[in-house]
Amino acid sequence: MYSPKMLNFYRQLLATRNASFSTMKNLSTSTENHYDIIIAGGGMVGTTLACTLGKNPKLSNNKVLLLEGSKEIKYTPSEKYSNRVVALNPSTKSLLTRIGAWKRIESVRYGPVCKLQVWDALSDSMIEFEEDDMKKEVAFIVENNLLLHAVMEETKSLPNINIINEAKVKKCNLGMNIDDLVCVELESGKSFTCDLLVSTIICV
Ligand SMILES: Cc1cc2nc3c(=O)[nH]c(=O)nc-3n(C[C@H](O)[C@H](O)[C@H](O)COP(=O)(O)OP(=O)(O)OC[C@H]3O[C@@H](n4cnc5c(N)ncnc54)[C@H](O)[C@@H]3O)c2cc1C
Repeated sequence: MYSPKMLNFYRQLLATRNASFSTMKNLSTSTENHYDIIIAGGGMVGTTLACTLGKNPKLSNNKVLLLEGSKEIKYTPSEKYSNRVVALNPSTKSLLTRIGAWKRIESVRYGPVCKLQVWDALSDSMIEFEEDDMKKEVAFIVENNLLLHAVMEETKSLPNINIINEAKVKKCNLGMNIDDLVCVELESGKSFTCDLLVSTIICV
């Protein structure tokens, strides 16, 4: 599925971010514990990636594992707004629409932004973001917990994605050679191998 060149690229990408290399000689690689792709960290970014991969028909034969360190968090809409929010750009909104998560967000709430003005603290400089005389949104403010809930609910329904909560990653071994499998070790002692690791967390 992935060319050696692509694999090498991804491995180097991870290595520059935070991973360390070690040899892979003693790892068990049972099929049950082997995945095409492992995503470490089931926050907004990791879960959205899992959902996007899982919904891509070209990747439907791939087994994907999403590892999240914390317990599953139940989301209940409340009148009180959460103070953790993100400003999503229109491309991110399009992505969330394609993967089916935006309709879930829309059914609860979000705040459209038609103009942004940012001032410099030390001078009179200022930057403005606005499109078509404020006829189009430049951003969408969404609460983090609602966004995560929306993408997680969509991801849960995908047969090729396995989500494990309370799976704290302890160590990632990327291997020395292009044919080496990547190994992800959990604090529980369990380990998994994969062809491609995408980590949204610090993995050493
Ligand atoms: C204090 C603070 C305020 C912020 N305010 C804003 C803001 O106002 N607006 C804005 O747009 N952005 C803000 N950000 C940035 C925003 O939170 C991040 O960009 C965003 O959360 C990144 O998403 P993520 O999925 O990569 O990471 P996270 O949301 O951090 O997700 C990482 C996931 O990995 C899991 N994890 C961690 N370690 C392990 C492990 N060892 N094994 C398995 N899983 C693990 C965590 O439980 C978490 O679910 C803020 C960040 C912080 C810290």
